[in-house]
Amino acid sequence: MKKTKGKYSKLLFDLLMRSNNITLVCHHNPDGDAIGSMLGFSRYLESLGKSTTMISPNPLQEFLMWMQNSKYIIVNETEPGRAVKHIREADLIVMLDLNHIDRTGKLKDHILSSSAKKILIDHHPDPEIDVDLLISEPGFSSTAEIVFSLVTELEDDYYLDNEFIEAIYVGMMTDTGNFSFGTFDGDTLREVAIMIDNGLDKDSIVSKVYDNFSINRLRLQGFATYERLVYLEGYSTAYIYLNKADLDRFKHKTGDTEGFVNIPLTVKGIIMSALFIEKEKHIKVSLRSKGDFKVNTLAAEYFSGGGHKNAAGGRYKGTMEECLEYFEKLLEDIGPLRK
Ligand code: 5GP
Ligand code: MN
Repeated sequence: MKKTKGKYSKLLFDLLMRSNNITLVCHHNPDGDAIGSMLGFSRYLESLGKSTTMISPNPLQEFLMWMQNSKYIIVNETEPGRAVKHIREADLIVMLDLNHIDRTGKLKDHILSSSAKKILIDHHPDPEIDVDLLISEPGFSSTAEIVFSLVTELEDDYYLDNEFIEAIYVGMMTDTGNFSFGTFDGDTLREVAIMIDNGLDKDSIVSKVYDNFSINRLRLQGFATYERLVYLEGYSTAYIYLNKADLDRFKHKTGDTEGFVNIPLTVKGIIMSALFIEKEKHIKVSLRSKGDFKVNTLAAEYFSGGGHKNAAGGRYKGTMEECLEYFEKLLEDIGPLRK
């Protein structure tokens, strides 16, 4: 897919120069790209002398908490007063890694009613959001890579601050599953090469992100694949479901199930995999696919969600039993999957 470069720098520069209080907001359940792109862009804005605040709708997962400056991210769920104050006081709000305002959770109404200028920087397809500057680039591997590209344009050179490249690399690495899937290309890897040449400690980052699990998480993964995986060979699909009791049994912590949805894709012939997690009031749905089978369309049509062609999510209102029945029925309705 095409990447647009050079198109945004003038408008972006003007908006940044006119603003002093810049508030950055990422999506609910922030992943490595949401946090990486937000930390990276914030670091750059601070270098321009801008007063910058970062807000996440809910807490960070543990595998991201080691990141430099992540402790300064205001979590709306824990400190709503502070978060809302910074949205109110902002003269510029930058939203990252989301394509719909609903993804900002309870911050939504505060953002909508703010008179601040707004920018969206994102790589999900089909954004539906009203902003002053829309930087929507689905051809990029990650929002972090877009940030890298924008900053390179603004500086007319690479910006290779240590903290900046660390944050950008986390976004690129996690959104491509350590450079194994998704829309990374030669440009992405050339940028990685430049970062490595300039001191990026990639081995330490890989280890901090991927070798950071608890023993309970490893056991939960074993349990999930052994006891809670349903293989539907006829539909080239497999899914994993986890009830609250399962999560409690393995002393589940936020982020423990991250990546589980990819596991069934390692089975020969699988085109789609799904993960269903029981939450307080709904079932969280994650979908992954291979080839041209679009899970974002499926997520939008059946689970009030969205995402990328091969990685999407949504939710189901009802019990786990109902959700699984609904899912198997929809597979029947859509017929055999094609890559
Ligand atoms: P995950 O399955 O890892 O939670 O999410 C995978 C992808 O789907 C991410 O790119 C995320 O942005 C998107 N996604 C997950 N849940 C939702 C949702 O409820 N609504 C929308 N629009 N996108 C979602
Ligand atoms: Mn992303």
